Amino acid sequence: MPLPLKDSDSRTQIWKDQDRKHYLHPFTNYKALSDRGSKIITRGDGVYIWDSDGTRILDGMSGLWCVNVGYGRQELVQAAATQLEELPYYNSFFGTATPPSVELAELIAEVAPEGFNRAFFTGSGSESIDTALRIIRRYWQVEGETSKRFVIGRNRAYHGSSIAGVGLGGMAKMHQQGAMNMPDFERIGEPDWYRRGQGMSPHEFGLLAAQELETKIVELGRENVAAFVAEPIQGAGGVIIPPDSYWPEVNRICKQYDVLLVADEVITGFGRTGRWFASEYFGIQPDLITVAKGLSSGYLPIGAVLVSDRVTNALTSADDDFTHGFTYSGHPACCAVAAENIRILQREHIVERVQEEIGPYFAERWLELADHELVGEARCAGLVAGMELVSDKATGAAFEPGQNVGAACRDFCVDGGVMLRAVGDIVVAAPPLVIGESEVDQLVDCLRKSLDLTKQSLCKRTNK
Ligand code: PMP
Repeated sequence: MPLPLKDSDSRTQIWKDQDRKHYLHPFTNYKALSDRGSKIITRGDGVYIWDSDGTRILDGMSGLWCVNVGYGRQELVQAAATQLEELPYYNSFFGTATPPSVELAELIAEVAPEGFNRAFFTGSGSESIDTALRIIRRYWQVEGETSKRFVIGRNRAYHGSSIAGVGLGGMAKMHQQGAMNMPDFERIGEPDWYRRGQGMSPHEFGLLAAQELETKIVELGRENVAAFVAEPIQGAGGVIIPPDSYWPEVNRICKQYDVLLVADEVITGFGRTGRWFASEYFGIQPDLITVAKGLSSGYLPIGAVLVSDRVTNALTSADDDFTHGFTYSGHPACCAVAAENIRILQREHIVERVQEEIGPYFAERWLELADHELVGEARCAGLVAGMELVSDKATGAAFEPGQNVGAACRDFCVDGGVMLRAVGDIVVAAPPLVIGESEVDQLVDCLRKSLDLTKQSLCKRTNK
């Protein structure tokens, strides 16, 4: 049906109808969405997006934790267009490669932590996790330790939506919907000091949370444990930032029991914490790093597994195929965009700016909100942040689940022109890395107002 141009009301209506009738959204309550109708996002520039009514919204979530260099980057548009014209597609399966795929692999090795010189390309974070699991299996097979099969993850971890990613992850609601659990996945607790560390210092709790891994390895038998997979900061779990003592202890345990350590840096990779990788931020010594999102700033879909020399040596020593890959592994247009994205991060010193300038400013402003009556804890690292909304600030008591306080606060933020996200009653933020100080002010001021409005609406509900 032709769209009546310059009539944003009727265009919006048509899009909303099409959406309601034909589109099944990811991670969505279909009934609630159908009643409410979708917000149609039509345009982006810098740190802002616009909806189909022309309303400007500060994107405090970088899309879905991915648009690190901001919207409207002509260099990325050009990189895609040039490559699509030259060679839109070719695979890397049978001894071929394309210039963008090999150039990107080299660029990644340049910015990756010491000892990471190879990349296996995928189309998403979920595919990166699946690939890491295949690599782990293959590694121990080549090493002749085939009993090493258990992979340990954590509660509230998000490792994607593939069957394997859900099973490995620790999202209770995903498991409740009958996700097919795999017998070789095991889980331990998450390093959430605010919710699990009552009565302990963060340092003590960090050690204790790490030692859950040691206990689990001993229980399963070290000869049976292949790997521990964890996000340096649990993003979708509510931006859980572990105490400083946690990661060094996890490193020690993985080394001591010869268990591969996989850092899932799908959210934290490419500058989010003010370091290229959060593994550097926390001093993690992983054997594999999974990435996606910020690799291309979300302009085109691409992910990768960064493979350490230790694992590469095993994979490349076997005189047999590694039987794994995707049609779009090393997609030339996606690789060209990702390479240009990395060059932008380098050229504009964006990662350094997060570490030295805008990250500290963001932290100062975000942490101010900790004084609000509804806020139990405010926490951040670089440009990723979380905020626990609580019914009792003194005790940290949570709201009743049905009260949907986090969602209410998020909705007030969106109405006020700032896109944030609620994970239960944790409000989270991860703005583009190019955000400026006045935009940070806008985000934080809007959130404070939204907290006030949330408080007022709670008082009304309870007639207080
Ligand atoms: N791992 C982590 C840590 C993630 O945050 C995500 C996505 N939010 C994924 C994996 C899955 O990535 P994708 O949605 O690209 O499959």
